[in-house]
Amino acid sequence: MAKLGILGLTLAIPLAIFFLSAGNAGLSDQAHVVTVVIDAGHGGKDPGAIVAGIKEKDINLSLALRAFSLAQGIPNLRVILTRTSDRYIGLVERVRFAEQVGAVLYLSIHANACSDPTICGVETYVDDSRPRDDPSWALAQAVQEAVCAQTGARDRGVRTQRLYMRHTELPAVLVEVGYLTCPAERRLLVDPGYQQEIAQGILQGILDFLGL
Ligand SMILES: [Zn+2]
Repeated sequence: MAKLGILGLTLAIPLAIFFLSAGNAGLSDQAHVVTVVIDAGHGGKDPGAIVAGIKEKDINLSLALRAFSLAQGIPNLRVILTRTSDRYIGLVERVRFAEQVGAVLYLSIHANACSDPTICGVETYVDDSRPRDDPSWALAQAVQEAVCAQTGARDRGVRTQRLYMRHTELPAVLVEVGYLTCPAERRLLVDPGYQQEIAQGILQGILDFLGL
């Protein structure tokens, strides 16, 4: 090319930035950006579990924001959060939002609580209406494995219960990242370094499921 006019330059600069930011992804892959929605469970008037003054909603939000930040460096993946602040959103509204933004999956982050302080570890849930060939099970398995591998937490397995995720047909899971009622795990759940490991695990599980 002999000359770049003003128009040529204005086109060339964004293209150069695109190629730098897209990493290994070629121009043709740009059409294959997949959107996932990560939900920080509870929020606003709904604190979730409260143990030793720690509110579950705050842990969930911190993890979702960390996963969002980590995803910024990943080509072909767009993470959208249902909330980025301490606000309440209706449950069905959360999955409707995921559908509206064109998400290929929905993942909700929670921290667990129970009356037995010796119970500690990670669980990932699928709604009990989902048949065994529903991709939510594979997503749950991928997230469960990746979070446990990344954190070293006890693996309490993929489980099922009645969840609001029955209101969407998107692959949808709920990860319980640890027990606030387990003293050792509670100390970890408020630790920024451990939160980062959980967020990394959640993101890795999503990437494994998507084959990215
Ligand atoms: Zn919860």
